[in-house]
Amino acid sequence: MRFRIAQLSGDGIGPEVMAQGALVLKAVGQIYGHTFELENALIGGIAIDKTGSSLPEETLKLAKASDAVLLGAVGDPKFDDPKIKERPENGLLAIRKELNLFANLRPVKVYDELVDGTVFKPEVIRGADFIFVRELTGGLYFGRPKKRWETATMRKSVDSMCYNDREIGRIVRIGFELARSRRKKLTSVDKANVLESSRLWRQVAVEVARDYPDVTLEHMLVDTCAMRILLTPRDFDVLVTENTFGDILTDEASMLAGSMGMLASASLSGIPQPGARTFGLYEPIHGSAPDIAGKDVANPIATILSVAMLLHFSLGLEREAAAVEKAVSSVLKAGHRTRDIIGASNNPVGTSEMGHLVIKALEG
Ligand code: NAD
Repeated sequence: MRFRIAQLSGDGIGPEVMAQGALVLKAVGQIYGHTFELENALIGGIAIDKTGSSLPEETLKLAKASDAVLLGAVGDPKFDDPKIKERPENGLLAIRKELNLFANLRPVKVYDELVDGTVFKPEVIRGADFIFVRELTGGLYFGRPKKRWETATMRKSVDSMCYNDREIGRIVRIGFELARSRRKKLTSVDKANVLESSRLWRQVAVEVARDYPDVTLEHMLVDTCAMRILLTPRDFDVLVTENTFGDILTDEASMLAGSMGMLASASLSGIPQPGARTFGLYEPIHGSAPDIAGKDVANPIATILSVAMLLHFSLGLEREAAAVEKAVSSVLKAGHRTRDIIGASNNPVGTSEMGHLVIKALEG
């Protein structure tokens, strides 16, 4: 089969991890007889440098004409000045909104091989395997009003956490659908003791639950959830939550897996159905990591696992997706580690070497 993939490498370590993701995709094509046409386009800081916009029109056009989008990361400290209006992250928010990618799926899996390398007690985290469904096109990141202004005596600012019942209903439904295909437990995370938007969230979650009597729904306050993720991570199956809570909780949860460099994500525009193809954007959960960019030390596994999610959700290539996941597992089993999951003094492999090892494992 022939597929068109938009390749948006972005900034910092984005191009480095993307290079490995693209090589893995090409290897899958060779092994299983598919053609993946990878077409590059600009996003983020590099797009601002070259075109003045963090999401040029051509990039959006290419993304819309593709079967799926693979993204590296955006962000560059040179745009950190709060007075700068066009920032790399604007491009990321804009492409999510423009493509209506409202559902961000972020699996958290603790690999047995990495349990001892984390800061946690092995008996607490071993076997933890859950997935976040993060709402991606609403909440604080998009709500209006969003502005800064000055009064005679002070500087003021506002961001708005806005949600309507439809936005909540469609994301909660994805949570239920995923739970139905897993261990049938959904944790809806909110702050209903304080926030009005969370009270609507909880009410809608209860309404949607009527269509899923086979799934157990629990509600959890976000602060409790932050604590439970570290205390009893194995209790979770699927968690559904709003944009900002999901952003923060998934970075926290990535530590169970050993590193930000281990967590993949899929951003989808609809409910994924088994065997069907859903358009999506795939990216590691980490940022552009300017502190390690250009050093060949970034962990490409999050991007490679994002490729597996792309194969699964957007191309319907289940066997190929499973093969990529298995290749990653076997490389870890064989003891290969990048610096973030082993430490600089323990002879880690570099970014490109890790990609090469995964491809060798794929080729069997
Ligand atoms: P970050 O995720 O880039 O890095 C946080 C820490 O994790 C750093 O110490 C980094 O070295 C490490 N890390 C991240 N990815 C790694 C990998 N693959 N392998 C090994 N170590 C890895 O977060 P930050 O430093 O707070 O942000 C840097 C820039 O990225 C900022 O401009 C921010 O806005 C942007 N950002 C972008 C995205 C995105 O593109 N989706 C997400 C988060 C942050």
